[in-house]
Amino acid sequence: MEVLAHTALHHLKGVGDAVAQKLAKLDISTVQDLLFHLPRDYEDRSHITPIAGLAIGRSALLEGDVLAAEVVTGRRTSFVVKFSDGSGLITLRFYHFYAGQKQHFRPGQRMRVFGEARLGASGLEIYHPDYQSVTPGEALPPARLTPIYPTTEGLTQAKLRQLVAQALTLLSPQSLPELLPDAVQLRYRLIDALRTVHNPPADTPREQLLSGTHPAQQRLAFEELAAHQVSLAQRRHHIRAQKAPALPFETPLAAQLLERLAFRLTGAQHRVWNEIANDLRKPHPMLRLVQGDVGAGKTVVAALAACHAVTGGWQVALMAPTEILAEQHFVNFSRWFCALGVPVAWLSGKQGVKERRLSLERVQSGEARIVVGTHALFQESVQFEKLGLVIIDEQHRFGVDQRLALREKGLATGYSPHQLVMTATPIPRTLAMSAYGDLDTSVIDELPPNRTPVTTVALADTRREEVIDRVRANCEQGRQAYWVCTLIEESEQLEAQAAEATFAELQMLLPHLKLGLVHGRLKPAEKQSIMMEFKDGKLDLLVATTVIEVGVDVPNASLMIIENAERLGLSQLHQLRGRVGRGSAVSYCVLLYHAPLSAMGQERLAIMRSTSDGFVIAEKDLELRGPGEVLGTRQTGLVGFRVADLVRDAGMLKAAQHLARKLEQDSPVQAESLVRRWLPQAPRYSVV
Ligand code: ADP
Ligand code: MG
Repeated sequence: MEVLAHTALHHLKGVGDAVAQKLAKLDISTVQDLLFHLPRDYEDRSHITPIAGLAIGRSALLEGDVLAAEVVTGRRTSFVVKFSDGSGLITLRFYHFYAGQKQHFRPGQRMRVFGEARLGASGLEIYHPDYQSVTPGEALPPARLTPIYPTTEGLTQAKLRQLVAQALTLLSPQSLPELLPDAVQLRYRLIDALRTVHNPPADTPREQLLSGTHPAQQRLAFEELAAHQVSLAQRRHHIRAQKAPALPFETPLAAQLLERLAFRLTGAQHRVWNEIANDLRKPHPMLRLVQGDVGAGKTVVAALAACHAVTGGWQVALMAPTEILAEQHFVNFSRWFCALGVPVAWLSGKQGVKERRLSLERVQSGEARIVVGTHALFQESVQFEKLGLVIIDEQHRFGVDQRLALREKGLATGYSPHQLVMTATPIPRTLAMSAYGDLDTSVIDELPPNRTPVTTVALADTRREEVIDRVRANCEQGRQAYWVCTLIEESEQLEAQAAEATFAELQMLLPHLKLGLVHGRLKPAEKQSIMMEFKDGKLDLLVATTVIEVGVDVPNASLMIIENAERLGLSQLHQLRGRVGRGSAVSYCVLLYHAPLSAMGQERLAIMRSTSDGFVIAEKDLELRGPGEVLGTRQTGLVGFRVADLVRDAGMLKAAQHLARKLEQDSPVQAESLVRRWLPQAPRYSVV
C-alpha cells in the first residue's frame, strides 16, 4: 500500500491534467493533500432556518412565499425574486436564467430554497439557490450533512466530493500514519476523524458539526494547531541558528540617559529592559515583541535597548509606520542622544534628494550610530556600516516580509541584527502565540504614575450641542481637544468630506477657538504640519478622521469626542482614546452614538466605559469580531486555518504548543511530516 503523502492525484479516477491544475490552485497535489482539504461548511437540507436567523456565508434551507419576481436589467441583467417567510425578507438572484424559470416563481407560491446567504445590492441575497415548490407542511428530507469545500473556478462541489470519496477508500493506518504520539491521541484516530468530517454519519450531531466542536473536528484542530506551532518553531530555530553580535550588558550610555530623564522608569519598564538586555548579550539574534498599552512608555525602553548596541560599536535602525510617528521618534532620540555625543540620522521618503543623500552617506560610513525613519529604511540604497539592532514600532502595520527585509540589511557584516518589535495593540495571548509565535514576548503592564484614567461617557448624538459646549469650556481653560469623525464606508474621500463638513460646522459654532483639520486625503507634509501646530499648542481643537489613531503624544489634550463610536471596533476605540490622558489633567472621552443601538453596539460601548485595560478590550474584540480586525491587517503573517479556530479552540493551544516542542525535539522527522501535511505551502526551514 502506497503512502498517500506520495500518491499522485492521477491515481484517482477522473483526474486528468486539467483537473490536476485546478486542484493545484488549492495547493492539492497528492491524495493526502486532498484528504486534508477539509469542508468549510456543511449543507443540511433537513432543517428549515428562519430568514431572520440566517448567518452570512452559511448555507441554509428556507421555506416561504414568493412575493414578487422580475427581470432587472442593468450592468448585469438578473432575475430577481423577493421571498419572505414572515420572519424576514430575502432576495433570490439569478444571473443565469431561462424564460420558463419565471413560471416557477408566481407570487404566493410556497417554496423551499437552498443556498448561501450573502450581503448583496438589496441586503440579504442568495445567488442561484436550489429551489423547489412545496405544499405547506410537506415532509422534509431525512437528515444528511453534505460537506462544502473551499474551491476554485471550474471545480464543482460534486467533483470534489467524488474525488474525496475515492480518497477515503484508500485510507488506512498504513497509508496515512498517525504523527502524534500515542499519549495525545484524542477520542478519534486520525483516519476516523477524516472519515467523519468528510462523510458524516447520519446520526452525527448537527449543531456540533456546524460549530466545529465535534470531537472528530477537535481532534483535527488540535493536530493543525500543533502543526502550526512546529512550523513557527522551525522558523525560530532557523533564525536562532544565525550569528548575531553579542552586545555588552553594561552600558554607561544607558546610565547617562537615565540620569537626564525627567522621570524614573516604572518597574515594568525596568523588567522589560532587563529582558531585552539579556537577549542582546547572546550571540544569536534576539526576536522580541514588546507589548505595552498606549502611553506605557515604550519609546524610552527602545532607547535603552539602543544604548547596548551603540556601546558595543553597532548601529541601530528605528522604524515607524508613518512620517508623524517616525518624526516624533527622531525628535526624542535626537534630544536624548545628541546630548550624549551619539549622532542620529533621519531617513524618510519625503526628504529632499540632497538631504537624503547626506543621510545615506552618514549611515553607510558609520558616522550616524542611530538612524530613525519610515519604510524608506527598507530600500536597497540604504546601506549600513554595521547594523546590530533593528527596532520596529507599531508592528501590526508592517508585514512579516518587511521584518525579514530589514534583517537582511545586517548580513553584509556576516551577522544578523537583533530585532525588537514594539506594538501598542495588546494582542491576546492566543493570537500572539499564533501570529507572533516566532517571537518572545515582553509586556509593559504598568502605566507611568500620575496618569489619571480617562473618564469615558457614551451619549446619544441628539446631545451634540451639549458636547460642543463642553469642548468650548475645555479649551477656554487652556486645554486641547480632539474631535474624531468616523464613517463606516471604506472610503477616504467620503470620510474626508464628513470631516470637512464637521470642521466647517464647528468653526462656525466655536468662533473663538483655533481649529485644525487632518484627514487621509491631505499630503503627508500638510498633515504633519497641522499635527505639529496642535502639538505646539497653536491649535485648540483638532478635527480629524481616524488617521490620528497611532502613537501621537500631546499631553495637553484632555478631551476627545468620537462620532459614530458604535461603528468602530473596540481596539480602534481604545487606540483613539489613548491619545488623551497623557498629561496630568483629568481627561474625558465622549462616545457619541446614533440611537437606537444594536445589542452589539451596546455591548461595545459598555466595555469601553467599564475598562481601560487594553488586554481586556482586545480579548473582547477578538471574541466579537475575529482575529483579522484585532491585528489590523491580513498581512501579519497569520495564516488561515483549515479547521482550527483561535477563539473557539484557544483552550487547546497551550497543549498543542507543548506537543509541538516535544515533537520537534524528539522526532524531527515526524514533526516535518506534520508540517508538510498541514502547511504544504509553508517555507521550508528544516533540513530533515
Ligand atoms: P507609548 O508606549 O505609547 O509609545 P511613549 O513612549 O510615547 O508611550 O510615552 C508616553 C509618555 O509617557 C511620554 O511623554 C513619555 O515621556 C512618558 N513616560 C514614559 N515613561 C515614563 C515614566 N516612567 N514616568 C513618567 N512618564 C513617562
Ligand atoms: Mg509609541
